Amino acid sequence: MAPRKLIAGNWKMNLLKAEGEALVRALGGSLSGTPKPACDVLVCPPFTLLGALAPLCRETGLALGAQDCHAKSSGAFTGDVAAPMLADAGCSHVIVGHSERRSLHGEDNATVKAKAEAALAAGLVAIVCVGETEAERDSGKAEEIVVAQLLASLPQGASAKTLVVAYEPVWAIGTGRTPTVEQVADMHAALRKALGGVLSDAAGLRLLYGGSVKPGNAAELLAVANVDGALVGGASLSHGDFWAICQSC
Ligand code: PGA
Repeated sequence: MAPRKLIAGNWKMNLLKAEGEALVRALGGSLSGTPKPACDVLVCPPFTLLGALAPLCRETGLALGAQDCHAKSSGAFTGDVAAPMLADAGCSHVIVGHSERRSLHGEDNATVKAKAEAALAAGLVAIVCVGETEAERDSGKAEEIVVAQLLASLPQGASAKTLVVAYEPVWAIGTGRTPTVEQVADMHAALRKALGGVLSDAAGLRLLYGGSVKPGNAAELLAVANVDGALVGGASLSHGDFWAICQSC
């Protein structure tokens, strides 16, 4: 059976406390109403808001995640945040290897794998992001490239309970462009197959699509085989848009 869908909002470097609280309260209100969405809902605010939003998320049934963590559990790493600190702040999930971390902070697959392992060790679910650039898509080798990226980024000891994979084509993030449903279906099938070679419970692992998911295209993308949810950036900052995406499950 396909896993229950997960809709995750990646707020990136956006929203101050009052705005974040208002958004979580609004989402919580929607979650407690009817009809209930057929998905789990996760928000990933900036580090500074995690402590303030954790009690609100707990009350309303929203899951809380962070956008990154360090590979070490503590130490002299000025400005970094460790996975046990995220768990301590009330997080259940953490995104690792987002393309903005890979490209703007030089994170390679080995770093992403180490971060994902740190997440698992802290009891967090790691959301490992992978995706090809436009040039890689144009080369006709996108599937091969993304599968290799995934296998090199996978934490040791992962299972469908502790790992989520997000396929996010770099050229679709924040651009308003999305792959065709055929391209998404082909990539997700390739990722599921590759995961099947390394995880015994790969069929139950949630494979998210991310990159310009909006209320207008969510239903179509979420209906694709092997798409078990979405990682949403820009549209997760609006209650109306994010909730509409949740209701598209
Ligand atoms: P977007 O971002 O929805 O704004 O394209 C997705 C992401 O970066 O996770």
